Amino acid sequence: MHILSKQKIIILGAGLCGAAIAALLAKRGFSVTLYEKRADLRQKVLDGGRSINLALSHRGLKTLSKLGLDDQLKQLAIPMHGRIVHDSSGATNFQAYGLKGQFINSISRTELNRILLDAAEEAGVDLRFNHACTDVYLQTGDVWLDKQSQGNWVSDRGDLILGADGAFSVMRSKMLRSDRFNYQQQFIEHGYKELCIPPAPDGGFRLDPNGLHIWPRGGFMMIALPNLDRTFTVTLFLPFEGHNSFEQLKYPEQLKPFFEEHFPDAYPHLPDLKGQFRQNPTSSLITVRCYPWAMGKGLLIGDAAHAIVPFYGQGMNAALEDAYEMDEMLSTFDSDWENLAQRFQVERKPNADAIADLALYNFIEMRDKVADGEFLMRKKIEGLMHQKYPDVWIPLYTMVTFSDLSYAEAQKRGARQAEVMQAYKKHYGYPSRPEEAKLEAIMELYLQMEAQHD
Ligand code: FAD
Repeated sequence: MHILSKQKIIILGAGLCGAAIAALLAKRGFSVTLYEKRADLRQKVLDGGRSINLALSHRGLKTLSKLGLDDQLKQLAIPMHGRIVHDSSGATNFQAYGLKGQFINSISRTELNRILLDAAEEAGVDLRFNHACTDVYLQTGDVWLDKQSQGNWVSDRGDLILGADGAFSVMRSKMLRSDRFNYQQQFIEHGYKELCIPPAPDGGFRLDPNGLHIWPRGGFMMIALPNLDRTFTVTLFLPFEGHNSFEQLKYPEQLKPFFEEHFPDAYPHLPDLKGQFRQNPTSSLITVRCYPWAMGKGLLIGDAAHAIVPFYGQGMNAALEDAYEMDEMLSTFDSDWENLAQRFQVERKPNADAIADLALYNFIEMRDKVADGEFLMRKKIEGLMHQKYPDVWIPLYTMVTFSDLSYAEAQKRGARQAEVMQAYKKHYGYPSRPEEAKLEAIMELYLQMEAQHD
């Protein structure tokens, strides 16, 4: 059956991925109904009005560009050109993200969701808020929803049900009860708490707004991203238990000594630390891997299919890239939904696994290594390699954040680069100055390794 002959698509979850794919599908002429359990965030303040921001980069941007949202985005995003690393004495060190002036964007989650919902509505999507999906019949395409959580049940039926309902997806939990569905979830031992640095008394930013601030402290870290209202959203990542953990910050009087010791330059910018610590939740971080994503008429997408930890700033970017890739597939595909869903999961799953691994690894890099001399020297050498061989040696961060290369390919090439740098270090040791690095020797090793793998 031709794909266009099946008309009705139901999407569960009007978050970033659900709203984006809804808009893209409606633009293609499908009839799309989007159910969201929460209220319409364009009309009601959610999350207690806290500013929560995200790092948006190339993969997310290309999806938003497909939707014609570039101009609106420019007004919402703050460019961050590199990491600004704060050491324990409060001194800072700027590490540019790329040699070509590349930057990532700090953007408000709510504002981004707002423009995506507007785009979906404009494209003709039927938006239904305060509808929490409680059950999905995967074989028939029936969904059951609790309207406004008042036990007021409604049902609907679609030809395709897209589960874009996030890391704790109801549709996925239905799949979990089916035969031959593989599922793995992993909570890391760290949790996070969001805090806010207010504007300076003169109304300006208290820190440089054009970078992503990091306070790496070995087993834990803190980061801060700027907001348009001149505030910063700060995220403190700590183990739940043990040394330097949330457990050790249970009482308000424990906060001052901890912050003064570990974050002396940030502490004066957090005036209501005790109040914020009490009010804002401490949340956990999960990686979800599952397969298949497609079952009967259901297909998982975004975090519902592949929730990852936030340390590469890629969860939303990967979810938006899902929407982009599905739309691309539709432009060339001439078959039925089952085949499309099959192709989607086969192509996207290895990439989801790759970015899940990279995100877990990047936590170690961010909290332990960005302040490490040897690591920085290696990064400098790799930067020189990229300058000298721009098309052959592309740093892993650049491949993940600023390119279209699949996550799986980026991971593979990154692993090879790491192997080469290890071998180089073993033979020659790292030079005291990067200029002395034997770039040709590194490239020779790299090409030898490539040839062995081919
Ligand atoms: P979600 O955004 O979770 O949306 C799911 C939607 O489904 C929600 O609106 C929810 O209300 C709705 N829903 C849930 N259950 C139901 C139901 N039963 N019925 C109907 N609706 C339902 N990613 C980045 O790219 N860059 C970053 O800098 C970044 N920072 C992050 C920082 C933190 C602390 C965390 C936790 C994540 C971060 N991420 C980041 C990841 C990013 O938030 C997610 O990957 C992204 O939100 C996934 O989008 P989604 O639409 O798939 O899911």
